[in-house]
Amino acid sequence: MKNLPQTSKAKFLEAVEKGASQFLSGIGRVDEVEEGMNAICSSPEAVGQPQRPEAEALAISAARLAVGLERSINQFVAATDQNLGSIELAVEKESRELLRQATEKAAQQKAEATPPICPVCQHRLSRLSTDHARTFESKFGPITVRRARGYCRRCRKWRFPADTVLGLEETAGYSPRVQEMAALLASKMPVAEASAVLEHLTGVKLPRASLDREARRQGQRAQRLRQKLDEQACHSLPRPLQQELVLEPYQMIIQIDAWNIRERDDWGRTGTMRQAGQEPERWHWVYTGTCFRLDQRGKTAGGRPGISQRGFVATREGIDALREQLHAEALRRGLGQAAGALVIADGAVWIWRLADDRFGQARQRLDFYHAVQHLAAVGRALYGEDKDKLKSWLRPLVKQLKNESCLKVIKQLEELLADLPAGSSAQAVAKEVQYLQEHQNRMDYRAGSRRGEPIGSGAIESTCRQTQCRFKRPGQYWSQKGDEALLCLEIFWRNERWHLLFPHNHRIDPSKN
Ligand SMILES: [Zn+2]
Repeated sequence: MKNLPQTSKAKFLEAVEKGASQFLSGIGRVDEVEEGMNAICSSPEAVGQPQRPEAEALAISAARLAVGLERSINQFVAATDQNLGSIELAVEKESRELLRQATEKAAQQKAEATPPICPVCQHRLSRLSTDHARTFESKFGPITVRRARGYCRRCRKWRFPADTVLGLEETAGYSPRVQEMAALLASKMPVAEASAVLEHLTGVKLPRASLDREARRQGQRAQRLRQKLDEQACHSLPRPLQQELVLEPYQMIIQIDAWNIRERDDWGRTGTMRQAGQEPERWHWVYTGTCFRLDQRGKTAGGRPGISQRGFVATREGIDALREQLHAEALRRGLGQAAGALVIADGAVWIWRLADDRFGQARQRLDFYHAVQHLAAVGRALYGEDKDKLKSWLRPLVKQLKNESCLKVIKQLEELLADLPAGSSAQAVAKEVQYLQEHQNRMDYRAGSRRGEPIGSGAIESTCRQTQCRFKRPGQYWSQKGDEALLCLEIFWRNERWHLLFPHNHRIDPSKN
């Protein structure tokens, strides 16, 4: 606008004003708009005030947009081959520049209002200089922010305090909203797809490699935040008065499982490793856990069992990491106030060791279906492939196991084993009997059912299945670091803590803090 001669500027404004009024007359607010436009565009008081030129630019863009939108509407109404989707797309596309300008302006003003204080140690910065321009990709296109830079003598580092305030610190050049989009999409689908879906739905262009990099960066940030939250959960004193008042004593249910994931840590070294007699490991364990209060398990409207509030944990960093993360999660979900706790899992030795170690007070239960599989293994050793015989032998035992006592079942198997001639069948049966004996204190299914507790680890198994859908697609390889970052994002999302990572999503809902 500055380059236009005064007369053409006045003419342009007049035209724009007319267009905007016409456009808005359809919704009956002509007076207001005309008043507003006059105040913004031709008020003599505006001259000489520092904010005015920018305010004016935004208002002019808005008026220009209004004119353009009106034209699009007319075209849309006249076009016989367009449905509402066409105008949705057109309106979105045309508004983008105005939204971009507004975002850029807001960012710039906030940057200018940021005091020259070190965001890390709060020390006053020295050797200040201004106008360090950097361009960030925002939801509405690139925005350039000119920021001040200063030196922190205490940290011995150069700082851009505005970057911290704006949420532009830990990024490869993306606004917080775009950082979030990259993180969410990459944790839900392969990056090549994510990049295309993002552009299609939002118009944000984030090439595959950039999206991948940004998502990982956000995932690493999520890992650091998780660490901090876990430390807070474990080291802060119990806060009984801040928690919701516990009226009825409740049990905390904890379920643990693991699944494996394919990774490419040793890629390019396969030949060397094989020569050295090592087979490269491609599959690695992802350790997972879930916890919930028994009184928060209920039925959905459709009659299906559901749990209203559940905590999730998934990690690639080994059993110790799972133990600490799950403990912190259980504390956050109310382990400290629980009347008791119950760990349910399949028979893996590491799980019971973990439970003894970190949830020493908790009761332990072997997943019912897992126990049944071991019974079925006895049946197969006895009856081979004769499925009918196997079924009629198995059915009463399963019933007894569920409704009576595991000791009764084990006793029958012991008697059966005593009568078997030595051989492979006897060996197989002996193995299973020993397994069930080892777990006999973990098979209190009747008492569990009567107390309304789950007897199987279905909740964690379904979680594993869902997560695997994302992380175990055919032909997909991951690195451990990349895995952990993406898993961590996925878990923040599932635990409804996404807003802690991306605070612009903070919902004012005290039940989800
Ligand atoms: Zn500092």
